[in-house]
Amino acid sequence: MNRNCNTPAMNSGELVKLGLKGITARVLECKKCPLHENATNKVIIRGSERPKVLFIGEAPGKNEDESGIPFCGRAGKVLDELIDYMALEENEYAIINTVKCRPPNNRKPTHSELKTCRPFLLAQIELLDPEVIILLGNTAEQAFCVSPLKWGEAVNMQEGKYLVKLYHPAALLYRRSLMEQQKEMIDLNKKLWQKI
Ligand code: SF4
Repeated sequence: MNRNCNTPAMNSGELVKLGLKGITARVLECKKCPLHENATNKVIIRGSERPKVLFIGEAPGKNEDESGIPFCGRAGKVLDELIDYMALEENEYAIINTVKCRPPNNRKPTHSELKTCRPFLLAQIELLDPEVIILLGNTAEQAFCVSPLKWGEAVNMQEGKYLVKLYHPAALLYRRSLMEQQKEMIDLNKKLWQKI
C-alpha cells in the first residue's frame, strides 16, 4: 500500500507471510517491549478479517486487558455508537490498537513502544486490507504516519484506499460536545464506505 502520509519503512514482511493467525501467535509470545510485563491478556483484534473499515485505537485499557477484546469498556460503547451511526454491519469492520499490551495506568504508549509494536500493526493492516482506515486519535496517527493529518479530512492513499483521523472515543466520553463534531466528520466521509 502506497501511503502518502509518509509511513515509515515496514519491517513486517515476515509477519504478513504468517497470516493473521500466525501474527496472533507471535503477539501472544511477544516480549519485545516492557509492556508485556503487566499484560494480563494481549489484545489483538475484534471484528471481520475482511473489513471495509479498519479502526485503529491507541492501546488496551483495563477492561480490554482483562478480557483480551479491543474496545469492550466505556470507550468501546461510544465506538459502538459511532459504528451504528456509520451504518456498518458487523462483518464490515475490524478494530485493532497501536500496541497489543496495556500500558501501566492507562498512560500513552511511548515512542519506543509504538515503534517496537509497529510491525504487528502494519502486518495486520496489510492482511486486513481495508478500504478505509480510521485512526482514532493522535496516538494512532503517530503510530501510522510521520506527518500530521487534519481531523476528519480523508487522505487518498491509493486508488480506492482512504485514511481518516477522527477523535478517540475516550475523548468523547469526557467531552460529549465533541460527539456532534465527530458525527459531522463522519457525515463528510460516509461516501467512502457507503460506496463500497
Ligand atoms: S506491546 Fe507489542 S511489542 Fe510490546 S510486548 Fe506487547 S505485543 Fe510485544
